[in-house]
Amino acid sequence: MASALTEKLTRLVKEMRGQARITEANVQDMLREVRMALLEADVALPVVRDFIARVKEKALGQEVLGSLKPGQALVGIVNKELAATMGEGVADINLNAQPPAVILMAGLQGAGKTTTTAKLAKHLIEKRKKKVLTVSGDVYRPAAIEQLKTVTKQAGAEWFPSTPDQKPRDIALGALDYAKKHFFDVLLVDTAGRLAIDEVLMQEIKDLHAVLTPVETLFVVDAMQGQDAVNTAKAFKEALPLTGIVLTKLDGDSRGGAALSVRQVTGAPIKFAGVSEKIDGLEVFDAERHAGRILGMGDIVALVEQVTAGVDMEAAQKLAAKVKSGDGFDLNDFLAQLQQMKQMGGLSSLMDKLPAQLTAKAGQVDMDKAERDIRRKEGIICSMTALERRKPELIKATRKKRIAQGAGVQVQEVNRLLNEFEQMQGMMKKMKGGGLMKLMKKMGG
Ligand code: GDP
Repeated sequence: MASALTEKLTRLVKEMRGQARITEANVQDMLREVRMALLEADVALPVVRDFIARVKEKALGQEVLGSLKPGQALVGIVNKELAATMGEGVADINLNAQPPAVILMAGLQGAGKTTTTAKLAKHLIEKRKKKVLTVSGDVYRPAAIEQLKTVTKQAGAEWFPSTPDQKPRDIALGALDYAKKHFFDVLLVDTAGRLAIDEVLMQEIKDLHAVLTPVETLFVVDAMQGQDAVNTAKAFKEALPLTGIVLTKLDGDSRGGAALSVRQVTGAPIKFAGVSEKIDGLEVFDAERHAGRILGMGDIVALVEQVTAGVDMEAAQKLAAKVKSGDGFDLNDFLAQLQQMKQMGGLSSLMDKLPAQLTAKAGQVDMDKAERDIRRKEGIICSMTALERRKPELIKATRKKRIAQGAGVQVQEVNRLLNEFEQMQGMMKKMKGGGLMKLMKKMGG
């Protein structure tokens, strides 16, 4: 999803290269783009204004740390603030109540309440080992009651029958009584939704809330609703003490700006994201990842995790210690480094996770070729004797020829590798113990 924003930020980031501080002027430029992106992602205008003001305050005059470029730092601030606004950490379902813990599902018709009820039932059964009962209070649409029955079965939970001639309040009390008598841990109550907010509906769900005293009142909202989500959220927030939000249909092509608006308007944490129509299409909401989605920045979090997980820190430290102690950096170390690059999950898999702003040039770089290159270099080093690897200066014409033959390459390629090695060795000497990570940053920067 290479958004226009990403491209613009890439350009601005380039322009900002070399500037040691974030200044008022470059912040303004960049924030203008961020503002547009948020509006494009359907975040409500007042929410955007608030957000931009907060980012500006944080960004202005902030010293840029370490090796980060100012542009990247600003992107980082925006990303972090977005994530913080949508809620930090993981907000799981609260079940701290005398059993059965009641969960009331609220939202407009079509938001995905019934589907989410079943998904949640499955989640609670599998992840929290709970005994779960569901019931539908939607007496206006007999099909909705049937739908809940079907999906509850798929979830492996029990369904409590209800009929359209009953009052929602009586259904709720009946289900509550049954759940108590049969030792259910959780009672999930699906409710009627209308296509738009109406007074009767709101009064009905308020009454349900009063008799059930749920431990969780979840507002289910369709991420594709965009700007409209704000008004719906306001109405539900005024009627009910919401304890959490479920954002559905995030598998669609919306940028998910509704998350920011709904969170801001209700103040309730976003607990889950619906990511498919299927019963297992429910994920614990991840604010940081979602921030990246809103800005179209790619999966930065996953990338960082992959890079740090892939590096063999022990080997990297050993290498650093070696350089520091004055022991020469030899071809064995060079080989170890190539292998570490490979360990990081392969170059192309890394590129997939990079934000488009960094992969803007990827079209010109053939990743498969880059990976093949690494393998060829490994092959060349592996054709050398232990002595040659330790003392590369021994490798003269005849040895080169033998090595090239062994690795199935031309002599020129052996020369190229040796040149590259010498450059790296030179850098290592200069850095004296700066460590592999620092070096890699240099190579990437
Ligand atoms: P309710 O009226 O609020 O109970 O909404 P439903 O649960 O009946 O869902 C309305 C429609 O949205 C159904 O076709 C669901 O299959 C679909 N739906 C619900 N959640 C998701 C989701 O996370 N992703 C996708 N793609 N579809 C969903």
